[in-house]
Amino acid sequence: MSITGECFCGKIQYSYSGELHDARSCHCSRCRKAFSSQASAYALVDSNSFRWITGESLLTSYVGEHGFGLQFCSKCGSTLVGVFNGDVHGLTLGCLNGNPNVELGRHIYVGSKASWETIAGDVIQYQENV
Ligand SMILES: [Zn+2]
Ligand SMILES: [Zn+2]
Repeated sequence: MSITGECFCGKIQYSYSGELHDARSCHCSRCRKAFSSQASAYALVDSNSFRWITGESLLTSYVGEHGFGLQFCSKCGSTLVGVFNGDVHGLTLGCLNGNPNVELGRHIYVGSKASWETIAGDVIQYQENV
């Protein structure tokens, strides 16, 4: 079964036919900025099972230190995927369509979460990365 995802404006769409691995939410200050949110929600993928359906030319990339970067829609700003040295490394869970059959497995860097955030639920929380 393949899952699909798209950005807010819908001009960029992708499909993924593999398993989603290690879905996690990171509450560090860098992820808050990168995801414009209280935390990231992200799962790892097998890059060979990922493909862009449409709109790939609209992608903009931000690559930080260490070769790790994010790709987002240049029209609407949704952050779609993480890339590592040019390969798709993971998907932002917020851009997945429907029920992608995945649950967050851990919250990380809870020790540096935003002062205004309350983390609900009983998913295991780590002060830093584990
Ligand atoms: Zn868009
Ligand atoms: Zn983080």
